[in-house]
Amino acid sequence: MLQAIHPWFGKAVIVAGSIVVIIIRAPHGQRSRGIKVVRSCKGPLEIGLLTLASFGFFLPLIWVATPLLAFADYPLRPVPFIAGILCLALGLWLFYRSHADLGTNWSITLELREKHQLVTQGLYRHVRHPMYLALMIYSLGQALALPNWVAGPSSGVAFVILFAFRVRAEERMMLEEFGKHYEAYMAKTRRLVPGVW
Ligand code: SAH
Repeated sequence: MLQAIHPWFGKAVIVAGSIVVIIIRAPHGQRSRGIKVVRSCKGPLEIGLLTLASFGFFLPLIWVATPLLAFADYPLRPVPFIAGILCLALGLWLFYRSHADLGTNWSITLELREKHQLVTQGLYRHVRHPMYLALMIYSLGQALALPNWVAGPSSGVAFVILFAFRVRAEERMMLEEFGKHYEAYMAKTRRLVPGVW
């Protein structure tokens, strides 16, 4: 078996990935705060899901900064580490592109903003939820590059739960708002994987 890599490499990659996530999202968060929300579907379930997602995002950083999760560490091997870096890079690129495509129509939760437009171009031409796909690929990268049984899979588990509970409500909201246009868009696209599902 190939020699184990020092966990500091895993830590450096996790910190760098988290910083890039924040850099990509920050300007969108700031810009969308300036646009009035005209419809919000943010109920208790959504608040719970957002809390879970934040937890999934911060747990890897707790692993980096403290010894609290050291009991679940295992050796970091080169093959999963490199595969993890590739997934993180692909996830970040899709995350960046989907934010650029959505523009001011992006929200962290289920809401519609003033002059909300249905986006069907860019990545949205191929799948309806490229940002969730991006986060899942990114989370897979984290699970591979972060050698800890608790912090490694934490964001993946959180995003799969968020996706499972949110996606139907989100599509219902879009259908109610955009009617036939969203129906036609649904007929032409898949949810997450082009041509598959
Ligand atoms: N589910 C999408 C978007 C995530 S952001 C994705 O994974 O890429 C969530 C918000 O984006 C929703 O509240 C909705 O307001 C908005 N949204 C989702 N799909 C959209 C689309 N095709 N066009 C415009 N806005 C969309």
